[in-house]
Amino acid sequence: MAIFRLENPVQHYDWGSQNAMCELFGMANESGRPMAELWMGAHPKAPSMALVDDPVPLNALVDDQAAHLGRGSLEKFGHRLPFLFKVLAAAKPLSIQSHPNKQQALAGFVHENHLGVPLDAFHRNYRDDNHKPELLYALTPFRAMNGFRSLDEMRFLFEMAGLESLVEALCWLGEGKLRAFYEHLMGLKEEKKDCLVAAALSFAETSDHPAWQEVCRLNQFYPGDIAVLSPLLLNVVELTPGQAMFLRAGTLHTYLEGTALEIMACSDNVLRGGLTSKHVDVPELLKTIEFVTVAPADVYLKPEREENGETRFVSPVDDFLFSVIQSEQASEPFQVKAAEILFCVEGHQCIRAGERSVELTPGSACFISAMAESYRVEGVGRLARATSTP
Ligand SMILES: [Zn+2]
Repeated sequence: MAIFRLENPVQHYDWGSQNAMCELFGMANESGRPMAELWMGAHPKAPSMALVDDPVPLNALVDDQAAHLGRGSLEKFGHRLPFLFKVLAAAKPLSIQSHPNKQQALAGFVHENHLGVPLDAFHRNYRDDNHKPELLYALTPFRAMNGFRSLDEMRFLFEMAGLESLVEALCWLGEGKLRAFYEHLMGLKEEKKDCLVAAALSFAETSDHPAWQEVCRLNQFYPGDIAVLSPLLLNVVELTPGQAMFLRAGTLHTYLEGTALEIMACSDNVLRGGLTSKHVDVPELLKTIEFVTVAPADVYLKPEREENGETRFVSPVDDFLFSVIQSEQASEPFQVKAAEILFCVEGHQCIRAGERSVELTPGSACFISAMAESYRVEGVGRLARATSTP
């Protein structure tokens, strides 16, 4: 068998929206808890269930038969599904965060194992040994922070509010010393942080500049946290539905509000700097951040139209390949070289691989094994296709 319907676990993180997934996909939320993320993949923390005869965790299915992954994927990424695919619905800002690169993740994971920190411990930083670059595709208008602004923009925003101590720190450190500035800010004594946040907020309340308004909004959720100043340091970007952006591992970022699809290397490694009730570890965060400025226009991914109604969003990493299929009544076959997950965003499709087929409606997903070799899509709507480079 080469195609399976998936049942996908929901993560109820406190920043999640109670109703976004219900409204978009008609999902039920009887408990009324926040539905933050729907995970589609084989991460051992919360694998999807493949509906064979009895449900089987997707990681067990893949462990049992490596051929599900495809030869190219096995050679490149070893015996695991290389990506994790999610629906993410943020009603509140997430933590300010960065993700490790491969070497950092491996070293951190081995180190914490060596220290005997349980995998599910509150203060565990590295839950696996993988890097975590991310691609985000907006389903609704979506706001995020992605990468450092230019130093000139930072200075302009500090000067507006008369935050002389920050202007001085920037000048004193000079060009190319972003790391020293961020370490200085995060390392301030508590009372200095309090004074700075108080001064910033008294200006923010009077300002109609979007970066300063974002400071106000963050402070409503996390009052007094020094990280409420992040919009002054980071690009605040807005995606319209159908736009996508990429986040390199090592990019300081967070998501602010909206619903999106997210695909990443299969990892749950997050280093946090604030805006959360989860574990914050600033020294470890500082080790993983790439201190480079990013032009906001450079975070967006250019859509590339393929045949068969497919639009691809190509990122610089191999671990995942993301595209959107606008399906018509019947399609030409799609070739499968590596394992795939298809998620129905809109409409109703029947996915046929050989003798088997799976019906998809909004919010539902299926796994296609590399052994399928090809499949057809019948029915009108929009599918999101997640795979890795073959
Ligand atoms: Zn992230």
